[in-house]
Amino acid sequence: MTIDLARGSPSATTQGGEGKMEVFNELKEMGHERVLICSNPEVGLQAIIAVHSTVLGPGLGGTRMYPYKSFDDALVDVLRLSRGMTYKAAAAGLNLGGGKAVIVGDPKKDKSEALFRAFGRYVGSLNGLYITAEDVGTDMEDMEVILTETRWVTGKSPAHGGSGDPSPVTAYGVLQGMKAAATWRWGDGTSLEGRSVAIQGLGSVGHHLAKYLMDEGAKIFGSDIDPEATAYASSEYGVEIVPPGEILEIDCDILAPCAMGAILNDESIPNLKCKIVAGAANNQLHKEEEHGLELHKRGILYAPDFVINAGGLINVYNELTGAYNQERALRMTRTIFLNLLRVFEIAKEQGVPTAEAADEVAEERIEKIKALGTRQWGRLIERNNH
Ligand code: NAD
Repeated sequence: MTIDLARGSPSATTQGGEGKMEVFNELKEMGHERVLICSNPEVGLQAIIAVHSTVLGPGLGGTRMYPYKSFDDALVDVLRLSRGMTYKAAAAGLNLGGGKAVIVGDPKKDKSEALFRAFGRYVGSLNGLYITAEDVGTDMEDMEVILTETRWVTGKSPAHGGSGDPSPVTAYGVLQGMKAAATWRWGDGTSLEGRSVAIQGLGSVGHHLAKYLMDEGAKIFGSDIDPEATAYASSEYGVEIVPPGEILEIDCDILAPCAMGAILNDESIPNLKCKIVAGAANNQLHKEEEHGLELHKRGILYAPDFVINAGGLINVYNELTGAYNQERALRMTRTIFLNLLRVFEIAKEQGVPTAEAADEVAEERIEKIKALGTRQWGRLIERNNH
């Protein structure tokens, strides 16, 4: 069964009843172009693909697998995440729009070849309007199963001409962002030598970041709820381990959230003792407007998450624009330094929080390209359509 909601399409169909109106209201409010609800009971597939915007290019974003409690929870998540991808790609200067997919299920128990192949067919049915990648709960192996059904998948293994694990490139981008923030804040160059950095979450991104910071000569504090992750970071990179409950309150130069979202909130912000927040986690501000303003009032320089953590997206983008080359991906990722300086400058000029300035940068680019009235990304699709 497919329920396909396309913005402005007279043939859009959905189920009757209350749910119908709510979906339309969400679509109207957030401006999504297309939402595809995918169901294949034979293989246990329940998924939603959301394409938020294709103004700058095809909507690229990972597939999240999570045991959502309700359809509404899954829908809200995929609408919010796909919109976030539009902003991330726009601010990074990529020719990509925003999309995301969610599969309802427990990644530890519910994965099967048939499920990912069925999902791959839905991705393929959008003919490149949506391009998938790995996300929380999915990995490179799942992407390769999807690849058997559709070419619209990135984050493949190097053996398939893919870019592999994006985390090292994301961490490299976060390092560039930290350097930009340090330059802006202290004005004494880009070196992080002697600066103290507290990393929350020493997982895929966090541990690569710790390595980069060790090479920079920074003093590193770190925490993780997984003892294996802390043991590794401590022995390999000399990270001083702090209990998870204390990491946000450490007296340090830079706090790097690299675990979950919404950690900048009413409880945490008054207790922060850092000068800069610069980390990889998505959706760090619990309430974007309110908590962005709180950080601004407290004089803490916030590197907006979707600008600083774009390295992973830049990495997979490079799979679409020619043979993947990590050197080229890292070179593009270095632009995060300048992208952030621009955000800080706008925020200063207008006296607004940096989160607001980042939204403005993304929206301005989208509006300008939209005004051209034509799709500039047809060639990117054509090149991959063989
Ligand atoms: P990961 O799952 O590999 O690592 C997250 C780590 O955080 C885990 O080790 C986990 O044990 C730890 N953690 C969870 N709760 C914690 C807590 N309360 N205190 C301390 N540690 C805690 O994930 P990742 O790929 O490293 O991604 C980290 C964050 O960056 C996520 O928010 C992700 O969405 C975001 N992000 C990742 C990438 C990427 O390339 N992997 C790209 C962009 C954004």
